[in-house]
Amino acid sequence: MIAAQLLAYYFTELKDDQLKKIDKYLYSMRFSDDTLKDIMNRFRREMENGLGRDTNPTATVKMLPTFVRSIPDGSEKGDFIALDLGGSNFRILRVKVTQDKKQPVQMESQVYDTPDDIIHGSGSRLFDHVADCLSDFMEKQKIKDKKLPVGFTFSFPCAQSKLDEAVLLTWTKKFKASGVEGMDVVKLLNKAIKKRGVRTGTNASYMEELRHIDLVEGDEGRMCINTEWGAFGDNGSLEDIRTEFDREIDRGSINPGKQLFEKMASGMYMGELVRLILVKMAKEGLLFEGRITPELLTKGKIETKHVSAIEKTKEGLKKCMEILTRLGVEPSDEDCLAVQHVCTIVSFRSANLIASTLGGILARLKENKGVARLRTTVGIDGSLYKMHPQYARRLHKTVRRLIPDSDVRFLLSESGSAKGAAMVTAVAYRLTEQARQIQQTMAEFRLSKAQLLEVKKRMRVEIERGLKKETHKEATVKMLPTFVRSTPDGTENGDFLALDLGGTNFRVLLVKIRSGKRRSVEMHNKIYAIPIEVMQGTGEELFDHIVHCISDFLDYMGMKSARLPLGFTFSFPCHQTSLDAGILVTWTKGFKATDCEGEDVVELLRDAIKRKEEFELDVVAIVNDTVGTMMTCAYEEPTCEVGLIAGTGSNACYMEETKNIEIVEGNEGRMCVNMEWGAFGDNGCLDDIRTQYDQAVDENSLNEGKQRYEKMCSGMYLGEIVRQILIDLTKRGYLFRGQISETLKTRGIFETKFLSQIESDRLALLQVRAILQQLGLDSTCDDSIIVKEVCGTVSRRAAQICGAGMAAVVDKIRENRGLDHLDITVGVDGTLYKLHPHFSRIFQQTVKELATKCDVNFLLSEDGSGKGAALITAVGCRQRELEAQQH
Ligand code: ADP
Ligand code: MG
Repeated sequence: MIAAQLLAYYFTELKDDQLKKIDKYLYSMRFSDDTLKDIMNRFRREMENGLGRDTNPTATVKMLPTFVRSIPDGSEKGDFIALDLGGSNFRILRVKVTQDKKQPVQMESQVYDTPDDIIHGSGSRLFDHVADCLSDFMEKQKIKDKKLPVGFTFSFPCAQSKLDEAVLLTWTKKFKASGVEGMDVVKLLNKAIKKRGVRTGTNASYMEELRHIDLVEGDEGRMCINTEWGAFGDNGSLEDIRTEFDREIDRGSINPGKQLFEKMASGMYMGELVRLILVKMAKEGLLFEGRITPELLTKGKIETKHVSAIEKTKEGLKKCMEILTRLGVEPSDEDCLAVQHVCTIVSFRSANLIASTLGGILARLKENKGVARLRTTVGIDGSLYKMHPQYARRLHKTVRRLIPDSDVRFLLSESGSAKGAAMVTAVAYRLTEQARQIQQTMAEFRLSKAQLLEVKKRMRVEIERGLKKETHKEATVKMLPTFVRSTPDGTENGDFLALDLGGTNFRVLLVKIRSGKRRSVEMHNKIYAIPIEVMQGTGEELFDHIVHCISDFLDYMGMKSARLPLGFTFSFPCHQTSLDAGILVTWTKGFKATDCEGEDVVELLRDAIKRKEEFELDVVAIVNDTVGTMMTCAYEEPTCEVGLIAGTGSNACYMEETKNIEIVEGNEGRMCVNMEWGAFGDNGCLDDIRTQYDQAVDENSLNEGKQRYEKMCSGMYLGEIVRQILIDLTKRGYLFRGQISETLKTRGIFETKFLSQIESDRLALLQVRAILQQLGLDSTCDDSIIVKEVCGTVSRRAAQICGAGMAAVVDKIRENRGLDHLDITVGVDGTLYKLHPHFSRIFQQTVKELATKCDVNFLLSEDGSGKGAALITAVGCRQRELEAQQH
């Protein structure tokens, strides 16, 4: 009994003693936490070098962007092929990704031999081989005639500039095929595949960590960085921790001096490291009683899987005995114990090294996120991590020690890197397909110069139809005479009232115009709301409300008794027979009061004033806002003979030769025509450029089928067009995770001012997201990119077709005057024009490109509707006096 105890005690002592001896022998492979932290910090510096633009070219850790922006979001679907080249085997897989919750990924795979002569032969042979295997695989799977997308996991350092392009920087591991470095491997593969007659769909490749460690981040919209940390140490930064064994491995490798970290830490070199240690220990008589066999001296005789087997808790020693016996070294029990310990030290070092570089990444993530406690998931793949009995646990423990304030979850990436490839292929495929679909949708909005010239030409045709007596009645662009026969000449003088109805606000103004030396315009105004029930109630209610506001304004100004001349800016299409008579053709924009269409709105106003019995007014002129705008600008700049509104609605006016306006008598001089160009296209002449979204906006509007041009280019509708596109893209699953929210269904939520905000160049994507958030649209980063593009496309088209219309107008004026070249000024008003970040620029550029014989100057109007109305009223008063004198 005592003897047995003693023996056991002696054995334990002996064991401890033995292990201590080995610990001492391999002390340089055992790291303290301080050393690990030091390595971690060195790696962080290397990462920073890799990420820096200036430092990247000479950096060893390349930090290559992969152009994989999104992590799989669960909406991947499809049938894919994945090629996995660069691991220990060359594998081809067919991966079916479904939305079946139980079995989302189904795989079938086959391993193909890649003989050494191919691995070390020419690049074209290698890729031909890959293509041959692929062809064989597709034949066996009976998918030869299918066009499946192929994902290519190519686990070597590549520089990627696009998702489907990867230029091999350098071979690593056992590969050394010639003529491939510096080439785009995706292209090489495609070429080989084509040669082989295999049909494939979209190609995508992606990079993964050399030891298959993917950092999976919880936050979407980031780009996956392939650190290529295998090259860590290639600049000498790990010299102090490299051992003679590491150096020997490096010397015997096909790429000496390169991938030094990889050679210390990866599973591929682990068995070899152990073997070299055993050889040296045997040589020194520390193992196997000094026996050295040819097997022990043969490279590759101890493999990583042997290390894993030897370290198994229960049967490890037995396995060790078997493996060593096969090497012919006749091991003793003590030898086995010692060799097991050597394995532990080597694999532990690997886990520690990986933990410190992983720790470096996590520390960086933590800093990037600016959180006190990092919560993240690390997806890990690789047979060492999966198969080795202790490796994973040791790795986790060390990482947690190095990054204490963290909740790091480790997720085994189940079916290996090939599934990763398929998933990334799926993501890439989805993104590519999505991008293609979105671009296709947007393409309808992108008009060519030829199309814009066509719009200009058609506008010209419609202008003529509006001007001609026989076509005027059915013409869509009405070309309404305004009886404004001249622009102001500076002699205008007096106090006037003005009304501005037809925009967002209703206003009453007092305008004091002074001529001569004291030439000036002074204005007082008050804004009144027009409730929607009044806008869409009866005509009497609308005009009573207007008169009520005038009454309030006169009280407010203390001038109830003054009988002032009044100009009525009424921004709707009116048939005028004189300056102070205008029959409403049709309501537009948000108005729909009854009993007004077909009536003279000046009479309706006069009637309402009479009903009120409070004051008297002299309504001198009814004014369209475009005309008011032109007049205001012309008051400052005599070459201004065109007016443009780009606000809630879209319209223009210009000075036409009276003889061309066939419905007005007289052939002398000029008259301003209110084009009412918003109705351009109502006869179907723009149908070829109208999209389904324009149609939907039209169907949802108060005046279906009318104002089709306006609905493509004015402030009231741009947001609605955007909303219709967003709804469609969401329905098709390309936006907002396919979820159409109540908000998105709400008409009018997407105001044009949001377009202005979203399209601002100064805005970061995060702010775009914030805007969408405010609107109640929960978006990802990718969503916000798409929304911004949609907005930009819609507003660009608006500016362009508006510009095409204007080009038709200025060219017409030029031809009227028989000029080869026309210098002219356009007075412009409207919040869309004034506040949108790109509209005015694109508009002006389009005019310039489509009307090359005109030099068009653009002048912003200051309150055209108020000031312009007063100026027209002044001109009207003067005209009246002239006529009175004549009679
Ligand atoms: P109106 O044309 O009604 O007389 P505005 O010229 O002020 O008046 O235009 C108002 C229209 O301008 C709104 O209906 C809206 O569509 C658009 N709008 C408002 N804010 C912005 C903005 N920040 N950027 C672009 N468009 C805007
Ligand atoms: Mg206006």
